[in-house]
Amino acid sequence: MNLPIYMDYHATTPVDPQVVEAMLPYFTEKFGNPASRQHQFGWIAEEAVESARNIIAKAIGAEPREIIFTSGATEANNLAIKGIAEAWKQKGNHIVTAATEHKSVLDTSKKLEKYGYQVTYLPVDEYGLINLNHLSEIITSKTILVSIMTANNEIGTIQDVGAIGKLCHGRGVFFHTDAVQAIGKFPINVQTMNIDLMSLSAHKVYGPKGVGVLYVRSINPKVKLTMQMDGGGHERGIRSGTLNVPGIAGLAKAVELVVGLMDVETKRMKNLRDKMWNEFQSQLDEVYLNGHPTQRLPNNLNVSFLNVEDNALMMSMKDVAVSTGSACSTVDLEPSYVLKAIRVSKERHHSAIRFGLGKFTTEEEVDYVINRVVESVKKLRELSPSYYKQKRVVNV
Ligand SMILES: *Cc1c(COP(=O)(O)O)cnc(C)c1O
Repeated sequence: MNLPIYMDYHATTPVDPQVVEAMLPYFTEKFGNPASRQHQFGWIAEEAVESARNIIAKAIGAEPREIIFTSGATEANNLAIKGIAEAWKQKGNHIVTAATEHKSVLDTSKKLEKYGYQVTYLPVDEYGLINLNHLSEIITSKTILVSIMTANNEIGTIQDVGAIGKLCHGRGVFFHTDAVQAIGKFPINVQTMNIDLMSLSAHKVYGPKGVGVLYVRSINPKVKLTMQMDGGGHERGIRSGTLNVPGIAGLAKAVELVVGLMDVETKRMKNLRDKMWNEFQSQLDEVYLNGHPTQRLPNNLNVSFLNVEDNALMMSMKDVAVSTGSACSTVDLEPSYVLKAIRVSKERHHSAIRFGLGKFTTEEEVDYVINRVVESVKKLRELSPSYYKQKRVVNV
């Protein structure tokens, strides 16, 4: 077993060697620009892109032409929300999202507020779920878009996307979902779930960084949106810019692998994740699960170890890579807005650790992390005067 141990798979994942292999030819001998229609080099690159489009479309129940390649999910989220806002401003200016969305959705929404759009940030319950009745009540004739993520990157909570999609379609409102964390964890079908726009990212599923997808529905209803990256009109005029061919080839391979292995891997990760949680509960007191107990990503465990400061715990086990709060909001050290939204107590908030398991996580690593966490929590609690006092009182 190699140290340090990586248990932060919600932040990013290593590229699968099979994905690297699928990408390599497109850096060197097959280097053409897929937009070059006049020669072989272009055709070969275009063939790779169209094959990737087919694979990804098939994995989510879409048509190939509904797959728009982007530089990642941040761009896909920006394009979906700003693109709809700009194209449909005659119809209305109201957008609905949730308080627990990724920063690329929240900050895009905030930006639109500056330009006169009205955004409702739906609250969530203690498990991180939105309320469908509440959503239904908030939609008006001015509502043009609902954007709710499929699964949360911090607490792992899975929304009932199918029900949200059905509700939106019944009311004639477009539905966008950020499915970055969900793809490959459980089946996603844009038809049965009534999804109009969906964001994906390669580097969360063992693909390369810097490439992603926006699925854009082309029929029932056709989704019209305004290009945000102006230029040559690539990708059916929805996203300009020369395509990242090696990245796209890698993304397709990554999606194919992660969807193909879904049943086996999901079960395996869930077992390892449950082992961790069971061991924490049996070996430590005052541990709390953040997020939904069952409607949850199989590889996510977000736990508060009461009376232990999250950063102190992380520092005391430097050979284990986990995360406190959200790793996505890079520099800011403010407490996690997702934990705030589910209204955990201050104590739980400041003692929360996110464990993210993945394809390369072994049982040996899980056992090591369990021991390391238990040992560190016990040691830190010994040092914590408040906890010590509390314990003594209990013992007396
Ligand atoms: C990582 C992540 C993103 C951002 O994806 P990038 O491709 O890194 O821009 C968006 N949404 C969620 C839920 C994520 O986990």
